[in-house]
Amino acid sequence: MSLVANWSYPTAIRFGAGRVAELPDACAQLNIKRPLFVTDAGLASLPITAQALGVLETAGLGNAIFSEVFPNPDENSLAKGLKRYADGNHDGVVAFGGGSAVDLAKLIAFMQGQTRSVWDYEDVGDWWTRANPDTIAPIIAVPTTSGTGSEVGRASVLTNSKSHVKKIIFHPKILPSIVICDPELAVGMPPVITAGTGLDAFIHSFEAFCSPFYHPMSQGIALEGMRLVKDNLLKAYKDGSDIEARGHMMSAAAMGATAFQKGLGAVHALSHPVGAVYNTPHGMTNAIALPAVVRFNRPAIEDRVCLLAAYLGIEGGFDGFYDWLVGFSRALNVPEKLSAIGVDRLQIDLLAQMAVEDPSAGGNPITLTPEITKALYEEII
Ligand code: NAD
Repeated sequence: MSLVANWSYPTAIRFGAGRVAELPDACAQLNIKRPLFVTDAGLASLPITAQALGVLETAGLGNAIFSEVFPNPDENSLAKGLKRYADGNHDGVVAFGGGSAVDLAKLIAFMQGQTRSVWDYEDVGDWWTRANPDTIAPIIAVPTTSGTGSEVGRASVLTNSKSHVKKIIFHPKILPSIVICDPELAVGMPPVITAGTGLDAFIHSFEAFCSPFYHPMSQGIALEGMRLVKDNLLKAYKDGSDIEARGHMMSAAAMGATAFQKGLGAVHALSHPVGAVYNTPHGMTNAIALPAVVRFNRPAIEDRVCLLAAYLGIEGGFDGFYDWLVGFSRALNVPEKLSAIGVDRLQIDLLAQMAVEDPSAGGNPITLTPEITKALYEEII
């Protein structure tokens, strides 16, 4: 079977090894003549970035880059990116990186044409209709991790540096118009990032699959997304150059983000405050929280998890799935507690309050209260 394809669901996706070479063609399709290449500070010095920028430069599209993006980006980084966009008179963005860079690039394309504060476009009710959709610049997304699936999402996560709260900024038109999924770009991703981001993809599908809302398409996508992670994440973790495994993980990431239109749950509700307050890696934070949430949600999700276990070829129903999950996390060297990644218990009451107010909390199959979330934090920190 050939691992090359063109898809238009959920957006136009050019999938396959080496396809980053098609960046100029994608720019032409969207009528971008002066792209701003947005990536993060860590990626800026890597050969894959030089390669992608070289492709643009050779095609006469310049080599303008903005790389002042750090994990869990905030509004200060956005302000700098917007200035760079305006100063360079750009007419579109290439979002190159993991969730942090892709999210921020999407917001640059969005905010460069708006007049209100970015916080006025939080994913609350119909706040997105406050935006002028006609001024949103075209976006090409090129993921280099396989986790968040931001490349196929209509939202960006932005940390408010003053309140230390992660906010979801939503507009249907920040869904990138073209995505280039090139698994060769993920080859150099270190094992620890491969593990955390890969489990993030799994958790997106898992939480969507368990959330109580009606969305049968999401259910199907989530199931197959989880199977791809089960069968490929360890391979990519052990041998980063396994292009087939890297490719399947890129698919799984996009599928997770497509599936979570149905909703997320307690893992993300617990993880967002921790990421915002302690600046921990998003995927790894989720991965550490997952087993406790699976145990807690058991009364509401047991039947679904049994279906999932059967699909994944795991014997023993719920318990079999749970044992597999714990073993899988161990094989990927996921720590058992958040204290291993720098989280302490000093702010546990604040975290619990923030978790209950997080938008992901509403998708959890069991209602989260401050007492419940505090008990969950006590288990996982
Ligand atoms: P990330 O973008 O923060 O990247 C993590 C690290 O990996 C960075 O240091 C980066 O330089 C490095 N890296 C990326 N690709 C690499 C490669 N190919 N080789 C070597 N190093 C590489 O991590 P992430 O988990 O992809 O994104 C997390 C962010 O995404 C968080 O802010 C989170 O809140 C957000 N998020 C967004 C959505 C969404 O729908 N928009 C969903 C989930 C999470």
